[in-house]
Amino acid sequence: MIAFAPFMSSQDNQDLSRAYIDGFEFARDGRHLQGVIPLANMGRLADLVLDQDGELACQIVGEQDRSGEFLQLRVAGVLNLCCQRCLGALSFPLQVRNRLRLMRPGAEWPEDDLEDDAADAVEATKEMLLLPLIEEEVLLALPIAPRHEACTTPTAAEKDQALSPFSALAKLKK
Ligand SMILES: [Zn+2]
Repeated sequence: MIAFAPFMSSQDNQDLSRAYIDGFEFARDGRHLQGVIPLANMGRLADLVLDQDGELACQIVGEQDRSGEFLQLRVAGVLNLCCQRCLGALSFPLQVRNRLRLMRPGAEWPEDDLEDDAADAVEATKEMLLLPLIEEEVLLALPIAPRHEACTTPTAAEKDQALSPFSALAKLKK
């Protein structure tokens, strides 16, 4: 069961922040869900972005084949990161696409999970919240040290001045 009436949502901008799915049922029935999650609801992202304005577009598609049940996740949007070189704002176009293999609770984790890049495994429940799943994918997709392609590091003198207005004054006295 989907947590809200599935057909009131012909609009793509429904808020999925509190939506949950029955993982296996969703996959077996080949369902799909599309909507948005406001960045403000992604608490784990707060320290990594300059602001939490805006929202991410999300799409979840259930799939089943001979090897099991899967969720296909897609997330897109723009995040304001902090450039690690000039400390200025860096607009980062996020594009996530990942396939998650659904695991039965308590089932043995696939040995080849780490080698198999085609699908990460996630434990399926009858009430899988989408927000933490999506937030995890977003966190994994962020660059470790985001930088503009071209920008300059503030020089030592500029930093010095910024730190101490008196250093400029001292120069005048010489
Ligand atoms: Zn920069």
